[in-house]
Amino acid sequence: MGQSFSLGRIAGIRIGVNWSVLLIVALLAYGLAAGEFPAAAPRHPEAEYIVAGVLTAIAYIGSLLAHELAHSLVARRNGLEVEDITLWLLGGVSRLQGEVRSPGAEIRVAGVGPLVSLILGGAFWLVAWLLHAAGVRGVLVAALAWLGGINIILAVFNVIPAAPLDGGRLLRAVLWRITGDKLKAAVWSARSGQVFGWILVVLAAYLVLARRDYNWIWFALIGWFLISAATSEGQQAMLQSQLRTVPVRQIMTPDPVTVPATSTVAQFLDEYLPRHRHSAFPVVADGQTVGLVTVHRASQVPAAERGRTTLGDVACPLSEVARAAPDEPAADLLPRLHACSDNRALVFADGHLAGIVSPADLSHALERLSRTRGPFG
Ligand SMILES: [Zn+2]
Repeated sequence: MGQSFSLGRIAGIRIGVNWSVLLIVALLAYGLAAGEFPAAAPRHPEAEYIVAGVLTAIAYIGSLLAHELAHSLVARRNGLEVEDITLWLLGGVSRLQGEVRSPGAEIRVAGVGPLVSLILGGAFWLVAWLLHAAGVRGVLVAALAWLGGINIILAVFNVIPAAPLDGGRLLRAVLWRITGDKLKAAVWSARSGQVFGWILVVLAAYLVLARRDYNWIWFALIGWFLISAATSEGQQAMLQSQLRTVPVRQIMTPDPVTVPATSTVAQFLDEYLPRHRHSAFPVVADGQTVGLVTVHRASQVPAAERGRTTLGDVACPLSEVARAAPDEPAADLLPRLHACSDNRALVFADGHLAGIVSPADLSHALERLSRTRGPFG
């Protein structure tokens, strides 16, 4: 069983739900049914609170999905590829491939999520208010009002200018427009994410320890998540800015050892690997490069099937492998690296395979750079 299950596709985008979301639905439904709703609309049957609690919790997850879907659809319209959307413990994540081309596109992609949450929140509140004005009382009105409030909180929290929140992306876009330097803007927005994350963690720890307000454990968790995500984004941006002046040719491993598509996974693991100390091999059929196989990918094939599974079957197809030219800056390669090929790229010169770039090549290049240039400032 994986970490998430699929809800199917919307507009061709795979929607995954992490199992932790079920926990959130259960906790929310319990909190609403046992606390929020009986307080807002007393003297209703318990079953009504429970049904309303579950439905409201599901509607909340639906609101998160609408927020993410808005990001994904606008991203696609702005030339990015959308891999999938996963809902998890702390909200949703859209996995986007590629890089936005302008600060304006970044603002549209990042801004539309909170905008959708704000509109949803307003709409829920409006309906709750109209029903209330029409004399309707009860759990339905309380549920709509709660959904209105939570969506507005979601919109406000997400525009806090701290990476990796949407507000961090907006900050990056604004700094990018002002400075003209996208990577420096990314480093600053990541720093603001770290600072905000630490403020949240310290504040939450104080409130939990001094005031014994255990609701804040949740915020400490969010803060911790922000710190780690912002840190890795900042590192990625620094890495990219350092690799701007280095051509791919300089970091690639030239003339990589290739393997035939017709070989079996067993042959690959038992014969090729011991002879060549590489972790990734271009796969060749009829003299053409058709894909890339990594040790990681091959070793995921169950042992019993390795004798009849060919490398052609398990290779990441060429269409999903990042391709590079020898003279382009290595920095341009980073956003194109794909999980399918375990972040390897193939380098082609005049249509011929000229080299391969692995994450190890990139980190070696960075080590050399840091020795000659000193740390990034
Ligand atoms: Zn968002």
